[in-house]
Amino acid sequence: MSDNPCLSCGACCASFRVDFDRSELDSQGGFVPDGLAVELTGRLVRMRGTDQAQPRCAAFSGKVGVTASCGIHEWRPSPCREFGERAPMGIGDEACARARARHGLPPI
Ligand code: SF4
Ligand code: SF4
Repeated sequence: MSDNPCLSCGACCASFRVDFDRSELDSQGGFVPDGLAVELTGRLVRMRGTDQAQPRCAAFSGKVGVTASCGIHEWRPSPCREFGERAPMGIGDEACARARARHGLPPI
């Protein structure tokens, strides 16, 4: 079992809208596959699946609270990178706790 609790969580990938600048798309010189994003405004795009009533990012695989992985981990957009950098892996972060609570998981 890994020491990284994110690998058995994934709540943040199934809780929030993930919006980022279009320049991060691979067609625009970035890394995020275009097919995984939807148009939002002229400048912003959103990870597919994250604006549903019950969000679930199209790049997410696994089951929240059991096993979790990001299919584009190396190429994930900036909000996902920043989320993990605010605190080590997001742990202890208020948004992390909110995401987990949404899925009935205790804060870490
Ligand atoms: S950052 Fe928090 S909510 Fe996101 S996967 Fe890790 S433990 Fe879960
Ligand atoms: S791109 Fe990856 S890290 Fe970001 S929300 Fe989707 S599955 Fe989670």
